[in-house]
Formats: sequence, C-alpha cells, structure tokens
Amino acid sequence: MKKNLFVLLGILLLASMVLSACGGSAADDAEEKKFVGISMPTKTSSRWISDGESMVAVFQEMGYETDLQFADDDIPNQLNQIENMITKGVDVLVIAAIDGATLTDALQQAADNDILVVAYDRLLVNSENVDFYATFDNFGVGVIMGSQIEEGLDLKNAEGPFNVELFGGSPDDTNAYYFYDGAMSVLQPYIDSGKLVVQSGQMGMDVVSTLRWDGIVAQARMDNLLSAFYTDKRVDAVLAPYDGLSIGIISSLKGVGYGTEGQPMPVVTGQDAEIASVKSMIAGEQTYTVFKDTRDLAKQTAMMVDAYFKGEEVPINDTTTYDNSVKIVPSYLLIPYSVDISNYYELLVGSGYYTEADLQ
Ligand code: BGC
Repeated sequence: MKKNLFVLLGILLLASMVLSACGGSAADDAEEKKFVGISMPTKTSSRWISDGESMVAVFQEMGYETDLQFADDDIPNQLNQIENMITKGVDVLVIAAIDGATLTDALQQAADNDILVVAYDRLLVNSENVDFYATFDNFGVGVIMGSQIEEGLDLKNAEGPFNVELFGGSPDDTNAYYFYDGAMSVLQPYIDSGKLVVQSGQMGMDVVSTLRWDGIVAQARMDNLLSAFYTDKRVDAVLAPYDGLSIGIISSLKGVGYGTEGQPMPVVTGQDAEIASVKSMIAGEQTYTVFKDTRDLAKQTAMMVDAYFKGEEVPINDTTTYDNSVKIVPSYLLIPYSVDISNYYELLVGSGYYTEADLQ
C-alpha cells in the first residue's frame, strides 16, 4: 500500500516537473513573480466585478501577483489607484477607464517605468502609451441591438410605422459611439423610409448620450420623453445600450402603465446580461440583452500579457479599427451574443456564467 503511494507521488512529481518545464508562464519563469495592476471602473455594474475577479483568478493561476482596484466611477480615484500601482512597482497595468481620456499623465508615468499597458474593454485615448486593447466587437454589439429592434418589431415584414426612442452610452467612453453607430447602421434605413419614427426627434450621440452610464439619468430622460411626446402615442421600441439603463427605462415605462395586457412593454434592448435584466426578461419586461463573456475577456487579456512577457507574438485580430487619436491600438476583439427569452438559459446557465439560483 505504502509502496504504491510512493510510486504515485513519484509519478506526480515527475509530471509536475515536466509540466513546469514546458508549460510554465512568463511569471513562473521569472525569478520574481510579475505584478499586474487591474483597475476597474465601478462595482455598481456586476460585469466589472466579474471581469476583475476573473482576471485575478486567471493571472494568479498563471503565476502572476495581482492588485485589483475598483474606482467607484470617480475619475480622480481611478487616477490615484493607478498611480499607487505604479509606485508599488507593477509590471503591467490592465485598465478599464471611467473616462478614457483622463489618464494620459499616468500612462506617461507607466511608460517611463517600462510598464506594459493594456486597455481593457474600454479604449484609452489621446496617449501613445497604450500597448494593446482587449475588447469585444463593439460595432458588432451595436449591430446586434439594432437587429434586435428589427426582429422585435418584425421591421422586415410589418408595415409600421413604429415609434422608437434612442439612448446612448457615456460620451467619455469610445464604446458608446461604436454601439450607437452599429445600432444605427441597422435602424437608420427604417428611419429614412418612415417605418421607424423618433417622435422626440432626439438623435445623435451629442443628444442621446447618458453620462457615466447612469440608469437614473436614463430613467429621468425616459420620463421626460414619455410626458413630452407620448401622452397620446405608444412607444414601440427603446434602444438602450446597457442593462443598467434598460432597468431605469423600464421603471419609467411601468410608471405610465406599460407592461400590462392592454399596454404591453415596448421592445427594450440592453447589454451585459446582468442578473436584474435577465430576471426582467424572464418576467416578460426587458426583451433583449447582449452577452459578452467576461471570463473570456479576462482569459484573453492574461494570454496577451503572458505572451508579451514570454517574448512571443501577442495574439491580436484587429489592427485597423481602434484609433485612439494618437495611434491605432492593436486589439483583440471577442464575439458578443444576442440574448432573449429563447436562448438565455443555454447561453448563461448552460455556460456556467450564472447558476439557476442566481436567476430566481
Ligand atoms: C462596456 C459595456 C457596459 C458599459 C457600461 C462599456 O464600456 O463595453 O459592456 O455595458 O461600459 O458599464
């Protein structure tokens, strides 16, 4: 019995030696562990918590040390946290910025200290000191939202006209423009032909954006739209580019009687497949969301960083799209998925992103 145990231990030891000889990460190979500073914008949206926690798990598994900070959507706070990380001697910064244009000085400091900088999901702009960008196909996310409205109203076949209102994301986040433009690439032809009507006339990111992606701001704007333009008309669809906005918009709609048999909810889009929105979808309120698997983005980011430190080719699949006004940042774009009541279970529970209990 004991002999067998020794043989087994011997095999395990050998296996682990072989594994570490051929499969070790850059952090393992180095004498000291490489240190990653992870700066996330806020905890108010569960996706960023999931992004941050997934990254800590993947990086630590690869042998890196991590420092994860959330900035409470406060720009000076994020700047402080990043400067502290630089002082603590990080080798790499992974940043999802609150405002992509406010970190230029810190990024210069990072470059002066030979720190690798990866823009995480949100582009860092106005700086040459951004090495890579890991994100999703953001224009594609917008196309999904536009197509959801097209499908939800059956625009290809129905006669219409239908009333739609448009919401944009935060104007200091380049993603917001990609989402809006992607959605409008599908919706604009219907608006031009008159099948879709924006009763408020409010179009364009300069008019429809929502600072800091704030659901309360979106709810207030929806209240105003409903009382100014829809007292004797129905709104048939609302383009909302983030679940936190969708929830605010839905509250506003419910406040004036939508969500009943006589006055069904309009088609409402969203993004991030947040638990509150999936529950709302199950309750028949929010129609759609977009699922971006933050576990995959975390993994992709760690692979890019590790490849860089190993001196290997960093995996990127886009070298043309993301111009940050100083350079085109080499990027890796992951695929987003459309979610509705018919596929949420498979995409979100089936993939282990949520448990069934999370959604009850
Ligand atoms: C992200 C979205 C998210 C939004 C609000 C964007 O930068 O790409 O996934 O919904 O920020 O947090």
